[in-house]
Amino acid sequence: MTYPDSILSRVTRPARYTGGEWNSITKDWQKTDIKVALSYPDVYEIGMSNIALPILYEMLNRQPDVLAERVFAPWPDLAAVIKEADIPLLSLESGRPLGEFDIIGFSLGYELTYTNVLEMLHLARIPVLAGERDDSHPVIIAGGSCALNPEPMADFIDLFVIGEAEELLPQLIDCFRHWKRQGATRKELLGRVASLPGIYVPGLYQAEYEPDGLFRSLTPTAEASAKIERQIVAKLPPPVTSPVIPYIEVIHDRGAIEISRGCTRGCRFCNAGMIYRPLRQRPQQEVITAVDDLVSNCGYDEVSLVSLSTSDYCGIDLLVASIARRYSKKNLTVSLPSLRLNRDSVKLVESLPTRRKTGLTFAPEAASQRLQRVINKNTTEEELMETAAAAFERGWTNLKLYFMLGLPTETGDDVASIIQLVDKVQALGRTAPGKRPHIRVSLSSFVPKAHTPFQWVGQDDELELNNKHQILRQGLRRKGVRLSWQDPRASLLEAALSRGDRRLGRVIHRAWQMGASFDGWSERFNYETWLRAFEESGIEPGFYAQRQRSTEEPLPWGHIDTGISPDYLKREYQLALEGKETADCHYQECSACGLQKRRPECHQKQAASG
Ligand code: SF4
Repeated sequence: MTYPDSILSRVTRPARYTGGEWNSITKDWQKTDIKVALSYPDVYEIGMSNIALPILYEMLNRQPDVLAERVFAPWPDLAAVIKEADIPLLSLESGRPLGEFDIIGFSLGYELTYTNVLEMLHLARIPVLAGERDDSHPVIIAGGSCALNPEPMADFIDLFVIGEAEELLPQLIDCFRHWKRQGATRKELLGRVASLPGIYVPGLYQAEYEPDGLFRSLTPTAEASAKIERQIVAKLPPPVTSPVIPYIEVIHDRGAIEISRGCTRGCRFCNAGMIYRPLRQRPQQEVITAVDDLVSNCGYDEVSLVSLSTSDYCGIDLLVASIARRYSKKNLTVSLPSLRLNRDSVKLVESLPTRRKTGLTFAPEAASQRLQRVINKNTTEEELMETAAAAFERGWTNLKLYFMLGLPTETGDDVASIIQLVDKVQALGRTAPGKRPHIRVSLSSFVPKAHTPFQWVGQDDELELNNKHQILRQGLRRKGVRLSWQDPRASLLEAALSRGDRRLGRVIHRAWQMGASFDGWSERFNYETWLRAFEESGIEPGFYAQRQRSTEEPLPWGHIDTGISPDYLKREYQLALEGKETADCHYQECSACGLQKRRPECHQKQAASG
């Protein structure tokens, strides 16, 4: 039982809040000791498309004395109505107030959802500041890719899970079990879990700054470690083949099987490519069995084979051919996100059992060969033209190309190259008999991310980014080309938050107090509110986003040890400045990223196959 009809009738998409979906799990509240609310700080449709949530949901609910329920950020219409009616935020399964759970676990995958975390806590009547919570409140934990720079959210979160939670979570739950049985205090619990590998309790650290404002250090108390090691599972957990089936259309309305984790391409701007290493692949037979189970358990007619770079899965053509054979008489669509730019990818898409010729998407990110080398994307113009030619020859007319503006060392010529490249692709499409190509160009702005070789790079300012956008908006104004872009100001905020330290907690708090929420949604994003929040907090956003940092400067996320060594990141940054590429260590020699120390088998395997 969730919100009453009198509430739901006043909001858009009430099915976001009703729960009761097929495969959802509602355990006996009274008979289950440990209660966890898995919280996603964005709307239901986005949260239900997240690949990690079903893994944690199933893993936790498998334990007899644990129940896990879901909660998503309520859209502002519901938030306003429940505030007015004095109803707290409720979970989907049992409709219990969030404050009655033992643990609330947030998944942080995007910096512009941070204010939603505060809003959800507030709606749940839980103090948003960790320091104001006492033994009567749930323990607030957070994980996900953004937890690898946890500092901007340090004021609000009791403990962070750093890295992959599959093996760590049972240990954490064990600590909770003992804690509950012994009736110990919250302080004792946090002290105890701080000794678990991969657990970061920010309240046990003291941040210090230089007189000129630079970050100096983070000093742990006796209970806490100076370094927090990112947790890495050796083997991918079994795929979830009976996920909760939403009643309403969600972003990815299909089954999903994670076929591999990690990526070794080494794109220098890419946070995911660094923080999910090493590469681990699910065996083909396990994928095929999972597809069968997913189709028979859930009735899906579309299954996505998920990976950071699907075409790099060893034997992807064989895997797709096997699935195509099994489903030759059934109507199953297989989607392959994140395809590499090459002719083989087009052939691969052609071989899918059922395909919708809606369009092909590729991400060259940069158009000029020089900039391609800088970012280590390693795709040539010939490859792009060959790929486009293969697509047009086979009857595809819609091509979507992603580019990033403001990449390190970018010049006016690099920006102009995007126009020239799109021109060439369009001209090529026109040569295909009877076809009119439609090219969709999607622009985003470069955001320097922690733990990447570009973590030291200052981002372009608003004026520079706007000028570059303007050049492309004018240069690509033509029939057959559609341009879309992300608001550069949202990227400016993202950069400040992603390279931030603890002091940014004040800004997030103030922005939320002034009404910021759903900042990742263009219709909700209010840059002026954020600028006011920065100003009132006495913090300059450019100090975090645009400032070029020295490679010797202590970094606020330096205590998070991802396994990728700072020396490797520095080396890669230097190579970028020299316009030199680094080969993919999956195919060529190990580039000693640092993981060879923690996972020697990774280095040895690559050395053997190289
Ligand atoms: S240890 Fe070597 S092989 Fe493994 S991911 Fe790092 S660079 Fe690649």
